[in-house]
Amino acid sequence: RQNILLVEDNPGDARLIRELLAEGSGTSFVISEVNRLAHGLEQFADQSFDLVLLDLSLPDSTGLDTLRRFQATAPDVPVIVLTGLNDEGSAIQAVRDGAQDYLVKGQIDGQQIVRAIRYARERHRMVLQIRDLSLVDDLTGLHNRRGFAVLAREVVKRAARTGTGLVVTFVDLDGMKHINDY
Ligand SMILES: [Mg+2]
Repeated sequence: RQNILLVEDNPGDARLIRELLAEGSGTSFVISEVNRLAHGLEQFADQSFDLVLLDLSLPDSTGLDTLRRFQATAPDVPVIVLTGLNDEGSAIQAVRDGAQDYLVKGQIDGQQIVRAIRYARERHRMVLQIRDLSLVDDLTGLHNRRGFAVLAREVVKRAARTGTGLVVTFVDLDGMKHINDY
């Protein structure tokens, strides 16, 4: 069972997508449905999802801003953008911005949507794996400079959001020459 968050303000489109997911056999989906970006973001406070189907045109957010705001709050979940025919240009830009795929409403059947979800999750998993590799020093398994920058940014953001302080500790290790030379 896969947990899917569907963010779609058009009830007809939402129903259609539910039907397509039900029709694509072999996988069962648990679908949580919201019609506002803000409601979608709230969902992440108390549960996790395997994938998000995100309509870009919502009452409280439109266009690529919808994707960016979503990713700022939930960066670790794969997103497939749902689009109408008329915004295919921004759908391609959405993929550049980190969406795993885009589906044109009314042009997709059940098998295709299930397959798109499967591949999107797989690609996203690989992206996260590569990102993790790029943040860690191979030899020591410690975070490298880039890893520190990424972590520090998150911690600073969280501190600002919660109004708490933070501490940075520098540790300088001497006497490592015999290991460095090894
Ligand atoms: Mg819409």
